[in-house]
Amino acid sequence: MTDEPAQKVLILGSGPAGLSAALYAARAELAPLVLSGMTLHGQASLTHLIENYPGFPDGIGGDALGEAIQKQAEKFGARMEFDSATKVDLSQRPFKVSTYGRTYACETLIIATGASPVLLQVPGEKEFTGRGVSYCATCDGYFFREKHVCVVGGGDSAFEEALFLTRYAASVTIIHRREGFRASALLQRRAQENPKIHFILNSIITEITGDQALKALRLGNVKTGEETEHATDGLFIFIGHTPNTELFKGQIDMDERGFIRTGVTMETNIPGVFAAGEAADPHYRQVATSAGMGVAAAMQAIRYLEKLG
Ligand code: NAP
Repeated sequence: MTDEPAQKVLILGSGPAGLSAALYAARAELAPLVLSGMTLHGQASLTHLIENYPGFPDGIGGDALGEAIQKQAEKFGARMEFDSATKVDLSQRPFKVSTYGRTYACETLIIATGASPVLLQVPGEKEFTGRGVSYCATCDGYFFREKHVCVVGGGDSAFEEALFLTRYAASVTIIHRREGFRASALLQRRAQENPKIHFILNSIITEITGDQALKALRLGNVKTGEETEHATDGLFIFIGHTPNTELFKGQIDMDERGFIRTGVTMETNIPGVFAAGEAADPHYRQVATSAGMGVAAAMQAIRYLEKLG
């Protein structure tokens, strides 16, 4: 139980969606409280350079953008706690959100808990995570100076991160399960023109092997059935993302993949509960769209509170 007064607006997550919601709710003088979650400023903070957020012709670092939006929101009265929700009760208002140490009550809740990388789910992946296997080129790329690394995936994330890794690595091999890529034409062209980037196509990784550290990947060619071993110092996995919405299962409407269902107003099926950013976005996954969803969620929360009087 909590004996503290209910927060007017409680926001879960400190990525672009959560912080943009905080900015708007703060400017409406609702003193929103943001629980940051485990990754301060969200996944975007792990991106070395964001080149497609409007207003920054030379790009902006993900961490710098997160810090700037936080500062902007705090200037108008938003508050941030470095804490994560472990349990929610949305059965009645005020809603209850518990962390390891506290329980908060809130009149409105904005869920901006983001998404996490999809795992490859092959033998050796868990064992070598942190010992050659990584999900973040910005965080770990530096450890692979002059080494040979692989990237698995054929989307924008895989290409963007492969290009980033060429700053450090001697070579970067993109392993993809087919011949066509989902990555944008621009990223594909940049990768193809980069002499450090090589491709292994029509291939899946069936096992990650090594001793103290990763040493090789077992590959299966999906066309010929041939099995080969590919020596490498590192493997970066970028095969998509899954929403961080486990906490809300059974309480909020979600699609079959766990994305929270909202309309354009970011309202969920529970009045007073809103969702924004990648937790509710199976389509775009952009910093700009997440920020926009956060703004819409906050505006709707403000209207909802006004109606309540
Ligand atoms: P994605 O577009 O869903 O691509 C995932 C890639 O991983 C696909 O090529 C897929 O292969 C492959 N894959 C999936 N499961 C696999 C498995 N088990 N084994 C091997 N390969 C597997 O994911 P994303 O690259 O993370 O991008 C997600 C969204 O964010 C997209 O809308 C993207 O445009 C956006 N994004 C944009 C930017 C940017 O604008 N700069 C940067 C990053 C992400 P198939 O193609 O065969 O399915």
